[in-house]
Amino acid sequence: MPELPEVEVICRGLRPHLVGRTITRIGHSGLQLRTPVPVDELNRHIVNQAVTDVDRRAKYLIITMQDEAKLLIHLGMSGRLGFFPQQTPTARHDHLCLLLDNGIELRFNDARRFGAVHVFSGTEATDLEPTFFAQSGPEPFSQAYSAPYLMEKARGRQSPVKVFLMTNEIVVGIGNIYANEILFAARISPTRHSATLSLAEWRRIVTKSRLILEQAIDCGGSTISDFANANHESGYFQVNFRVYDRKGQPCLTCGRAIEKIQLGGRACYFCPKCQK
Ligand SMILES: [Zn+2]
Repeated sequence: MPELPEVEVICRGLRPHLVGRTITRIGHSGLQLRTPVPVDELNRHIVNQAVTDVDRRAKYLIITMQDEAKLLIHLGMSGRLGFFPQQTPTARHDHLCLLLDNGIELRFNDARRFGAVHVFSGTEATDLEPTFFAQSGPEPFSQAYSAPYLMEKARGRQSPVKVFLMTNEIVVGIGNIYANEILFAARISPTRHSATLSLAEWRRIVTKSRLILEQAIDCGGSTISDFANANHESGYFQVNFRVYDRKGQPCLTCGRAIEKIQLGGRACYFCPKCQK
């Protein structure tokens, strides 16, 4: 499943190819994704409109049109986006094609169909925060994601800090891999009850969250050019994981074997010596 850094890299990769282009036609496989593809709304609000911006909120790509209408794409488990000359035959699992005014098509391929496409008219899209994103916490790179904010939210919570960080309502975009890495970098045990962390510890988590996610985004930066070749393959970037998937291997800081436990139903990796 693509995590936040991948979606951010895809967003940055799409931007130069889409901004200023007009979407002249849409094509649809006829199949439903996680939710039905809103074909009528796409035709009404997106077709014959120029793209003015490409952005990201949580793990949604947001394509804004000249009249402020917005197209939201979620890649789900297996979704991929690529640019192809119009005459290129569509591939199996190409579910949505947006034809641009330069004869290039943006194609959304999704084998498992857990992805989603949403369209909002200019009026509906004026403020998606209290509506569509009502259950989404702040972005990890935003000012709102701060140590005092986390400490306040954690008050009275018995949940382990790793589960807490992976809660969408608390902060968006911290998935399993990065939650493991962030807590290792912050030297905090993933099993600690959220309510027991000090302000200084939350501060370390905030700093390391941004650092780890930034490193992953930078790492993926080199894949942006793949869009030009229209064969972008979505996959985890070659980030050097320090704990994730390293059970039994020596901690890169102290040499102790990395342990693996199940926490909140997810694989949790940590160094029992470095993380308190
Ligand atoms: Zn260690």
